[in-house]
Amino acid sequence: MHDYDGSELPAGESSSDFAAVPDAFQRLWTPHRIAYITDQTQPDKDDCPFCVAPTFDDEKALIVARGTHAYVLLNLFPYNSGHLLVCPYRHVPLYDEATDEETAEIASLTQTAMRVLRETSKAHGFNIGMNQGALAGAGIANHLHQHVVPRWATDSNFFPIVAGTKAIPRLLGEVRDELAKAWPTNH
Ligand SMILES: [Zn+2]
Repeated sequence: MHDYDGSELPAGESSSDFAAVPDAFQRLWTPHRIAYITDQTQPDKDDCPFCVAPTFDDEKALIVARGTHAYVLLNLFPYNSGHLLVCPYRHVPLYDEATDEETAEIASLTQTAMRVLRETSKAHGFNIGMNQGALAGAGIANHLHQHVVPRWATDSNFFPIVAGTKAIPRLLGEVRDELAKAWPTNH
């Protein structure tokens, strides 16, 4: 993997680096980065990470699969390894503003995401849902996105409580490659 300036990225990183430490993301260029770091301010259409991501190649944008009306990418701030987001391409904030076609494809991509995560990482369960509005917890409230979070019986630990840290055992790029390869329509 290479950084945006072409330099070789370090081969290994500590898993704990990935949780809310800005430095960790300086090695992994993605178009989401600036918007995520400037939290509190909601991006408009021009700097919306979910509008910008599809204009980059899949590896750069951490995109796992592209449909006609919606696409799937890895969350930069995962709750668990393999935490996916299903977004319409269109910049709409609310679920009831999505068209029938968008709604149907968000649903089918969510189902495929479950199957792929079950197959690749033996997830035991899932949390699936949408935060609607910044006050409801949406980080990027202006662009609809459905969370698909794989769960394992053993995924709870003390880190979030004692250190404000989630241990994410795998690199984002590595997880993206695995999921993209297993995604049925990518072949
Ligand atoms: Zn957008």
